Amino acid sequence: MENLSQIDIKSHLHPFTPISEDRTPGRIVDHAEGIRIRDQHGRTYVDAISGLWCVNVGYGNRQIADAIQQASRTVSFAPTMFGASNEYATRLADRLLRLCSGASGMRKVFFGHSGSDANETALKLARLYFLASGQPMRTKFISCWDSYHGTTLATASLSGLPGHHRNFALPDPSFLHVSAPDVFDALTRRGFSSEDDYVDFLVKEMEDTIIAAGGGDKVAAFFVEPLMAVGGILPPPSNYFPRIKEVLDRHDILLVIDDVVCAFGRLGHWFGWETTGVQPDMVSLAKGLTSGCVPMSATLVGERVWSVLEQHQDQIGVFGHGFTMSGHPVAAAAALANIEVIERENLLSKGKDTGNVLLYTVRNATRYIPTVVNVRGRGLLVGIELAGVQASEVAQKCLDLGLIVRAIVGRNTIALAPPLITSEDDILKIVGTIRKVLVESNI
Ligand code: PMP
Repeated sequence: MENLSQIDIKSHLHPFTPISEDRTPGRIVDHAEGIRIRDQHGRTYVDAISGLWCVNVGYGNRQIADAIQQASRTVSFAPTMFGASNEYATRLADRLLRLCSGASGMRKVFFGHSGSDANETALKLARLYFLASGQPMRTKFISCWDSYHGTTLATASLSGLPGHHRNFALPDPSFLHVSAPDVFDALTRRGFSSEDDYVDFLVKEMEDTIIAAGGGDKVAAFFVEPLMAVGGILPPPSNYFPRIKEVLDRHDILLVIDDVVCAFGRLGHWFGWETTGVQPDMVSLAKGLTSGCVPMSATLVGERVWSVLEQHQDQIGVFGHGFTMSGHPVAAAAALANIEVIERENLLSKGKDTGNVLLYTVRNATRYIPTVVNVRGRGLLVGIELAGVQASEVAQKCLDLGLIVRAIVGRNTIALAPPLITSEDDILKIVGTIRKVLVESNI
């Protein structure tokens, strides 16, 4: 009899996994609860990366499970195309707009099922906005090198990751990339004398890129994360967003914040963009929207974009975009319950406190380890940059000890993003394991 691992290797085409069947079988999870998962061999692991940065309230939350069951019993499906809706999708759209602070100017919510399609929707809305504004030549997009915005044909181009481009004849020439704001690299390896100096460089690079694209009237939008996660856990310089926004405003270019990782408490707020000091024109959400319980994404559309679309409604007619599963009632019920859990259990402020403890504890525990060259982060996103030892090897050794962390190979960084419910006790255990591996790797 074949075991599950053999069946999996034979039948399952995995994302971001070598094509060859001649590989070590992966973990097959059969149970997940709180911050722990169990595999097919009965081994348990502490998950310090929240699945794929998405299990914000932890695994197996009962309230969300009950809401999913209830919705699937009452309205198992109801489309949102052609003006129809279902109670859950309608309530969730309203709830999300109300979660945005009063000054945010977010006006509409569009639903999808992945971070990729949330960004794809924002790309299309940006083109629609400029078409309606009488500027159809604005079709180009700018984003950061090393950013992750998705894997559809357009969002893989938008992502600044060579691994997304290779083998697919990408990036498409409409997509341009600028440097990721990496303060540590700038100050320690690239000779910048201060953060301000570095931001001057990034601002000039943005200006030059816009001009090289044919001028502001060719560029539709800049997409950026509040804090680049997959790119290496890169907290931006404090004046990065206001300074970059000045350039975008001068050229009338839209700002789209990709909040797929940073929202729902990851940075201590409902939305990561609240930490940027600027007002985005659109926002993409996914992952923590349902804490990974079921697939769902949302694209928030701000006043600037919406008012133009509204004004040109006769010219536009139908919004020719959408998915069968847009606003799926079961997913929307999960998202509503997830928001309630975060609110009722006070997880924004708890997560913020736990994040501070995490950053402090990692800094303290790794202070005298020479292979640790930088510890950085905000909220429950912490990166440990290494030199002289491979992050992927450290991640593997942590896994051998029952701890899941993520190795960001490009920046040789260990990424931590534990669920908001992680206790201080578990933080100490997580950091203790990492310290042990780093100390042993150092000998
Ligand atoms: N945006 C960001 C910032 C991401 O990190 C990711 C996925 N890691 C995506 C978008 C794409 O999300 P999905 O995998 O759900 O398509």
